[in-house]
Amino acid sequence: MTNKLRYFIGNWKMFGDFSSIKIIHQIHRFCLKYKNINKKNKIILCVPNTLINYFSKKGKSKFVVIGAQNCHYKNFYGPFTGSVSASMLKTAGAKYVILGHSENRREGDTNQLIKEKIKFALNNGLYVIFCVGETLKQKKQGKTFSVLNNQILSSINKSFNLKKILIAYEPIWSIGTGKISKNDDLIKIFKFIKKNFKKKFRTRKFPIVLYGGSVNEKNIRNFSTILDIDGFLIGGASQSSKKFIDIIKNYYK
Ligand code: PEP
Repeated sequence: MTNKLRYFIGNWKMFGDFSSIKIIHQIHRFCLKYKNINKKNKIILCVPNTLINYFSKKGKSKFVVIGAQNCHYKNFYGPFTGSVSASMLKTAGAKYVILGHSENRREGDTNQLIKEKIKFALNNGLYVIFCVGETLKQKKQGKTFSVLNNQILSSINKSFNLKKILIAYEPIWSIGTGKISKNDDLIKIFKFIKKNFKKKFRTRKFPIVLYGGSVNEKNIRNFSTILDIDGFLIGGASQSSKKFIDIIKNYYK
């Protein structure tokens, strides 16, 4: 078992209301009880925009950081009905934002738009959880590495504050399906992302790279054997405090 810092990031998607603050309280109590586990990890909950301000103020926990799930590709204000910019998320209390999620790519987010979003998120002092991943068809065609390479190089600029970008490898065919990549594939993909990023952007250290896709309290043990995985982006299972806490507990078992 490693002592390296591990990330457990919840992506609540379209879930939650004010009463869901109890999930933060339960995670907080878990962290207080299991201090030895807690000091080895960082917990971030990316919640709907309607809850960011309330949770940041009323849910105050030194263990749980609040993040957002997307932002607009323009900064500040503008004629974009229904949209929220990175600067508005920051003001609301978010510290992180997920960008490039496949559910948003499906609705029109291109690599170029995602690049603009990353730029403004970073300019506003947010950390970025940047999602990349291939479709099942691309996987079957043996295109995983080229898809990942293209997504990363098209949306990240050398001039960005690279230390504030976490990459989340989320094979699209694995999100919400219960299907998981083979360990051998994951080992190769994580090595590829880290080495390639370090080389292309000339960073001294490897980037933080997370895995996302059907992570649950049962399969987490398997992932804990792959040391290149720096943490997890957890969708469905993060909507339950019990499942989310069990994922963290079982990771360290
Ligand atoms: C996600 O939405 O980022 C995700 C990984 O979802 P799930 O864990 O439900 O597959």
